Amino acid sequence: MLRVAGPLAEVADAAGTREVRLSPRLPGGPPVAGDRVVVDDAGTQGIIRGIEPRRTVLERIGSGGRVRAVVANADLLVVVAAVAEPPLVPRLIDRYAVAAVAGGLDMAVVLTKDDLPHDAAEVATVVRRQRAAGHPVLVGSAFDPALVEQVRELIDGRLAAFAGHSGVGKSTLTTALTGVRRATAEVSDRLRSGRHTTTDPRLIPLPGGGAVVDTAGVRSFWLPPMAPTDIAAGFPDIVAAAGDCRFRDCRHMGDAGCAAQAAVEPERLESYRALIEAAESAVAFARGHD
Ligand code: GDP
Ligand code: ZN
Repeated sequence: MLRVAGPLAEVADAAGTREVRLSPRLPGGPPVAGDRVVVDDAGTQGIIRGIEPRRTVLERIGSGGRVRAVVANADLLVVVAAVAEPPLVPRLIDRYAVAAVAGGLDMAVVLTKDDLPHDAAEVATVVRRQRAAGHPVLVGSAFDPALVEQVRELIDGRLAAFAGHSGVGKSTLTTALTGVRRATAEVSDRLRSGRHTTTDPRLIPLPGGGAVVDTAGVRSFWLPPMAPTDIAAGFPDIVAAAGDCRFRDCRHMGDAGCAAQAAVEPERLESYRALIEAAESAVAFARGHD
């Protein structure tokens, strides 16, 4: 499935792309970009009757505190962040890393707008921090064809989901990679005039293989409730250092003999601690309300 726009969805198969309806109260629904769906073509317009189990899923907390899928079956999460305008938020990248591990996606980071004045030391710290966590990191300008080609190589024929603050260059990269401009893409009038057109995640195939989903409409990104161990999985550099902590149950929260404290950059450790504390207080809150 390419995307959902209100009660309608755009799907693709060997025969091409077409518009279908969503059946209300679809189990496991609503479907999202990247979902493999079962379409019933008995009526005048196809209707989605089922969603196949997701291989991977990127989830966030939506309005009303509900867990919402953003993209299904993506292989790679490409977190796009600008080195300036809007300001770089290292903790947002860390939150995406936790969500990527939880959902079964690989992750990479693309830092854009390096043609604008920026704090080179701050950017170098973020690059080091993300590479230490095992994520490929690219830095450049979204207007530079060289960066676009590096991103294409990074995607390497896979389904990649682009995520990040608005204004960081996701659409610019998507257009450069696919040749498709979001606002002028060829879709039916009903989909085009829908108020969802420019905001809902949309899957666009890449010439030469693979596809991208630009999650442009996602304005904030907060993690669904998860266990502290799931948070830790998003910080492999901290987990690696933890083997040398004096106590096996070290929480890396200022415990004596903590090796993570020595090995990991303070702001990175602080980012980890903030998520662990939020997860623990959510668990405590849930226990208190059983
Ligand atoms: P999105 O909201 O993440 O999809 O961001 P856009 O692709 O719409 O880009 C937001 C604005 O930043 C647009 O005016 C782009 O032309 C501009 N922009 C995107 N990437 C770069 C870049 O690498 N350098 C500069 N200087 N501007 C950029
Ligand atoms: Zn420790």
